[in-house]
Formats: sequence, structure tokens, C-alpha cells
Amino acid sequence: MKYKFRLAFASLITGLFAALVFTACNSVPSAASDEEVAALEAQVAELDKAFNVDARKYVSAYFDLAKAYQSRGEKDKAYQTVTKGLRLDSLNLDMQYKAAEYEVEKGDYDLAYPRLNAVIAKSDDKKLVAAARSLLGKIPQEYLQEAAGLEVSPMYNKKLLLAFYPGVEDVYKKALARRIEDEFKISVECLDLDIEESTKNSRDSYEEFLSETMENLITGNSPEAVANTLAYLGIAFDDLEDRETKEFFVKSVFLSSGYTQEDWDTLAAQYELQYDGNELMLQLMENCSLEKDCLGVLGVTTKDIYSGSPNNNFLFGLSSESLAVMSLNRFAKGEKDRALVTKRAVMQAFSSAGYIIGIPRCSTPLCARAYPNSLAEQDEKNDVLCHDCIHSLNEVYASLK
Ligand SMILES: [Zn+2]
Repeated sequence: MKYKFRLAFASLITGLFAALVFTACNSVPSAASDEEVAALEAQVAELDKAFNVDARKYVSAYFDLAKAYQSRGEKDKAYQTVTKGLRLDSLNLDMQYKAAEYEVEKGDYDLAYPRLNAVIAKSDDKKLVAAARSLLGKIPQEYLQEAAGLEVSPMYNKKLLLAFYPGVEDVYKKALARRIEDEFKISVECLDLDIEESTKNSRDSYEEFLSETMENLITGNSPEAVANTLAYLGIAFDDLEDRETKEFFVKSVFLSSGYTQEDWDTLAAQYELQYDGNELMLQLMENCSLEKDCLGVLGVTTKDIYSGSPNNNFLFGLSSESLAVMSLNRFAKGEKDRALVTKRAVMQAFSSAGYIIGIPRCSTPLCARAYPNSLAEQDEKNDVLCHDCIHSLNEVYASLK
């Protein structure tokens, strides 16, 4: 439901990114010059440093640079740049095909195989699908048989600690623990935290909503109308500084515009407190002791989280070395289908667990660990690990023995 006086918050874009988007949109001519390559390399170097969510918006810079390398015959560089872009945008099927083409040529069939299958399953482009089928035909039969039997080598003497903030329902606790144990073949220990989420650097978007709405009501109406309304509600103008009075004023105008209390509750629920994921990770570090065989801690909260940067709207999860935090908030908000909420949460937990264990970010389309930019992209994925992730996991496990 759209409310007549609801405000849209414009997202902030820094000058750097605005400049990037402009240049990244320019197409690269058939043989890129040194200057063009250097300019794209500079953009990509900035993106490499950027946070996932910010970098995703400008992912075309990776693909443009890859095309530029390709035009100069620099295949290795082209390939590395394409896979970087695919880690942020795994549903770019044209680029998935390009990466697979190179992998088949090099004999990296385990990487090419899931890419080509995803292109065949997902693309509407008949030519691309036909090309993918033909490329798949170049993968030796023995490999396909081997791939079908690829499994994670168990590592149950290592464990992952799942730390739940208050309010996480048992059904999700059990599903996350069981699915991580089954898929990663490590032990999972669960801990119920007896602390609330740290409010340090939290962001009160509700307060912003109240202030901006009030401002609009005051500037959008005649001083006389505003004075009459305030008098009617028994509010002095100076009292509008106070949060409760502000809320009372905005809510009263909202209800007198023909909306119900239920409408107000729905509207207000969109503006809850957002917690800084970095602060929650610090809190996990202070409250969880890591034994020798524990690889790290994954904290789970029902609260909405963000990266601590004003540019970031929200996060599904955040990780740093052996620590990670994930939020069920956006997965569960307004969603009655608990099986779907569970699937979303499990995929995020796989992504976080993989990070803690130390396997690289995944660029395989539809892998549970591929980076999702939205809930729709999260729902497109399968809740299992791809061959690439299984390979990486086995390599890390072998090094831990
Ligand atoms: Zn993967």
C-alpha cells in the first residue's frame, strides 16, 4: 500500500561512484588503447576496494575491462576480470558463457560445467543456449561422471559456533545448524546469547522519517493551517523538537487523512532501528570464547543490519575473518511462507560459513553462495554448494589436517 504523504529516501551516491557510472557506461572499441585500459583498470581498482553492495551497482566496469583485455588478446587478464565481475553479478549469462569458454579451453571443466548448465537452464537467448550446449559437449565424458560423485570430505573434528541473539525462533536455529553440518560436514555448536544487540552506531530511520514528514507538512501547508492544527492537537510549535510530540503530530495528521491505526503500524514497521553489523561482530568477539578446534562464530539476529556506511541501505550478512553476522529480518519481513524464509536464511548461512572457513567468494550462478543483490536474486538460487565451492572446501580442509 502506498501512502499519500510517504517520503521516498533518495539513496546517497558519492561523487566517486557517480563518476564511475558515467565512464563505465561508455562502450569499449574493438581494440582498446593503453589509455582506455588504464582508465578502466583505475575504476576496477577502486571497485576492488569497495564494499560488495556498492561495487555491485558498477559491476559493468569489470565486464568492460574484460572486453578491453580480450580485444588486445590478453586472455588471462580478461578471464580474471570477468570472474571478479561474476562474483557480484552471477546472473549475467553472457559473461558466464565467456568465462566457461575460457575454462573449457584450459581444461578447467569443474568451473565451466555449472556455468554452462546455468546458461542452458536460465537463458532466453536461443543462440547462447545452443553455444553453451555445444561447449558442454567438449567436456570429456569421464569428467562428467566424476563431477556427479563430487562430495565434501568430512571434517567433524572442526566446528563452527552459531550464536543466536534473543528472538530467533527455534525452527530457524535447528534448520541453520543442521544444514551447515550436512553441507559443510563440520560440527556445529549452538549458543543462545543472553545479550541484546549493541545499539552503537545504530541508525534510527524512524526518527528520520518523522522529521522529514513533519518538515514537509509544515512547509507544504499555509502557516495558518499549521497553527490551527497544532492548536487543535494542543501542541506548542517549539515542542515539535521532541520525538514523542513529533510522532504524535505526524500520526494524528496521518489518521485524520482517512488511514487506520493498522495502516500506521504497517508504515511505522518499515522504519525500525538498523544495527551496525560491525558492532555486532565486535560484540560476538567479546561474548564468545573460541576453543582450539573452532573455526569461527556466526551470529544470527532478527534485527535489521547495515554496514555502518550511510550509502548502505541494508545487509543480509557481513563477515570479517573468523567472525560473521547475518540477519533474518529482510528474509522474514512480510513473508508467511516459513519454508521460503528458511531457504533464504540457509543460503546466507552457507555464504557466511564459507567465508569463516576461508573459501573464496563464489561466481557460479545459482550456487547458494553466489552474491545476491536482492531478495529476488536470493530466491533464484539453489540451497546447495556448487562444485567449485566443494573443491575449495576440500582444499581448505586438507590444509587443516
Ligand atoms: Zn559456489
